[in-house]
Amino acid sequence: MDSQKKYPRTFSFEFFPPRTPEAQLSLRETINQLAQLKPKFLSVTFGAGGSTREGTYETVKQILALKQNAAPHISCMGTTRPEVRALLDAYRQLGIRHLVALRGDLPKNAPQTGDFRYASDLVAFIRDATGDEFIIDVAAYPEFHPEAPCPEADIRAFVTKVKAGANSAITQYFFNIDAYWRFVDECEAMRVDVPIVPGIMPITNFKQLARFSDTCGAEIPRWIRKRLEGYGNDLDSIRAFGLDVTTDLCDKLLDGGAPGLHFYTLNRAGPTCTVWERLGL
Ligand code: FAD
Repeated sequence: MDSQKKYPRTFSFEFFPPRTPEAQLSLRETINQLAQLKPKFLSVTFGAGGSTREGTYETVKQILALKQNAAPHISCMGTTRPEVRALLDAYRQLGIRHLVALRGDLPKNAPQTGDFRYASDLVAFIRDATGDEFIIDVAAYPEFHPEAPCPEADIRAFVTKVKAGANSAITQYFFNIDAYWRFVDECEAMRVDVPIVPGIMPITNFKQLARFSDTCGAEIPRWIRKRLEGYGNDLDSIRAFGLDVTTDLCDKLLDGGAPGLHFYTLNRAGPTCTVWERLGL
């Protein structure tokens, strides 16, 4: 864990491309609010949750217009080398210098298409095509990626991804803090020396959280699940308890030496701002 303490703390926020003009206006307001917290960058998902690639590009432009640093996500799904090259050129022209490179989620019941099989292939391609022009973040999984045959294989895959040229990593969200410390220790033992920034999902909606967690493999510990279930439709209690749990997790992470936090905002400023205030950042 000690390797992480030497990195300056970075705070970042993640958004998905809005799908309607109303949602776009609302995102503008969210970005303006979160910009006051002076994040290092704002990242925008790629093709995730039904959004389009054009949506990522347009949202990146919106972030730049609001004078914030943007980091678009790029995924391997259905992407060819010429397409990635064109996208990198387009981002360069906008002045983008930070990317989050991912494999992307596999489409249901369809084979993977595109020129890249793993995120490490995409990272290697971006490095080869653009040298050190971009800071590249990759994904990390303290509770392991759901498709990984075993923890060791997943950590080896993460190491390969970093060695392909990633500068830093953002984790899938988690609530078991020991999984994060252990993951970092194992990376350290494998001589991976990059910041591994915890991804934070503020808990505000149990059904949505349970749905996300079922797909991405992030465990909701029994004591949290049971309490959230117990609140039923009492949204105020869910939010109050959820924000307590999230704040406590962030507090312990920063205290233990985590090199910052990356918030999955789901395009809302309120929960992230509340946690931020409570942490006294
Ligand atoms: P990889 O690192 O390629 O790993 C995928 C699987 O393959 C893992 O099981 C790994 O163990 C295995 N593997 C990797 N390399 C090898 C190898 N060389 N040999 C054998 N096995 C290997 N999804 C989106 O669609 N759009 C987004 O914008 C998006 N943003 C995200 C942001 C963050 C911070 C995180 C944590 C996830 C995000 N995701 C996004 C989800 C992500 O795309 C999925 O979790 C996806 O299933 C895996 O992506 P990856 O980049 O981690 O893949």
